[in-house]
Amino acid sequence: MSLSGALERAPRRERARFQLERLRAVVARVHERVPFYRRRLGEAAVAPADIRSLDDLRRLPFTTKDDFQATYPFGLLATPLDDVVRLHASSGTTGTPTVVAYTRGDLDTWSDLMARTLRAGGVGRSDVVHNAYGYGLFTGGLGFHYGAERIGATVVPISSGFTERQLLALRDFGATVLCCTPSYSLHLAEALGAAGIPPSALRLRVGFFGAEPWTEEMRRAIETRLGLTAFNVYGLSEIVGPGVSVECEEHHGMHVHEDHFLPEVVDPATLEPVAPGVTGELVLTTLTKEALPVLRYRTRDLTVLDPEPCRCGRTFARIGRITGRTDDMLIIRGVNLFPSQIEQVLLAVPRVEPHYLLVLRREGALDALEIRVEAHPDVVVAGEEAVRGLADLVQRRVREAIGIAVGVTVVPPGSIERSPGKARRIHDLR
Ligand code: ADP
Ligand code: ZN
Repeated sequence: MSLSGALERAPRRERARFQLERLRAVVARVHERVPFYRRRLGEAAVAPADIRSLDDLRRLPFTTKDDFQATYPFGLLATPLDDVVRLHASSGTTGTPTVVAYTRGDLDTWSDLMARTLRAGGVGRSDVVHNAYGYGLFTGGLGFHYGAERIGATVVPISSGFTERQLLALRDFGATVLCCTPSYSLHLAEALGAAGIPPSALRLRVGFFGAEPWTEEMRRAIETRLGLTAFNVYGLSEIVGPGVSVECEEHHGMHVHEDHFLPEVVDPATLEPVAPGVTGELVLTTLTKEALPVLRYRTRDLTVLDPEPCRCGRTFARIGRITGRTDDMLIIRGVNLFPSQIEQVLLAVPRVEPHYLLVLRREGALDALEIRVEAHPDVVVAGEEAVRGLADLVQRRVREAIGIAVGVTVVPPGSIERSPGKARRIHDLR
């Protein structure tokens, strides 16, 4: 077992000592080098020397997306730009993108973490990694690229888009590993079908899907259609990019790479930690970042924390599936709702395809939600009555599961726009 493999399985107590050392070092680093943090630590009346146990993490100030914006582009850097060898930016899914920076050491750590991420799915030297995450400012493409190279796998840096070309590369280069957003993997599956290439003509074994929320129902659809085992991967630019956490073979939560990132889950209203298993906002502290160390970053992502050791033997804490982003929450007639809840209901309805869009309108004083969802081709062929029947069924299921009345429009296969990256699920007309 590699050193890092042993670390992932070390008892919590053993690990805590060096986590604390790293935490103290990062607090000292930002205190010394980042005026923003020196001020914040001053306001919180915490000095680096006050960090005596991991519990003192809770005394540190939070960092928010607004803080990134207020210090845009380089105000949070803890190194001179001369030492920065790479810039990336978040996708800007919910607002202005944030800029993030890496030293050579940061890229090295990130590559290690991405290698560990891929190894969690058994990726090795003989694998062919089809990397369809976008290359560029987005962290996905290059993050996976460097990790796969570090393992010594064969990387196909196809990036996102140009779906026709993706199909040929998948087949002709014998891809065994697929990396892309979950929504794009379904689009690839669909395009393979249309091109008459059955999953059995491919060698795909595992896939690493992340960068957007998805559900267990979606996992089943992807696994069946592509004939692979799907792994959930989570990360975000502000912390490193992909490589914060990944599922193990148990597929029961994602292990956080706790030697580099300390996870907390807090109540987004009170900012107090919630009990294990209770949903809250994920907060992450980087332990080893050089260019852009971040204290208690409020990710806006909702999940649960499970500190218990896993059946796989790893002791790194796990986070559950991200069920939504606090900034993606819809309030429909007083009911708080995340797109993933709708997805879960939709994909449990037979003959519904995993492509949908939520359209929001203002009707008088109320918000109205229309779900547009694609039907299996058979339904469309069967005629209008079948389409209406399916719409009624979906409507009923949503009402039963979530307790709200929504409009449902069943649309023909392929009519909802496909994205090569993060799917756009909400169309807000208010
Ligand atoms: P942006 O916030 O602009 O989308 P990034 O491109 O850095 O920025 O993407 C990070 C975000 O993507 C996370 O904060 C999270 O909301 C989402 N994300 C990443 N991985 C997953 C995942 N496995 N499941 C759900 N959401 C994810
Ligand atoms: Zn595990």
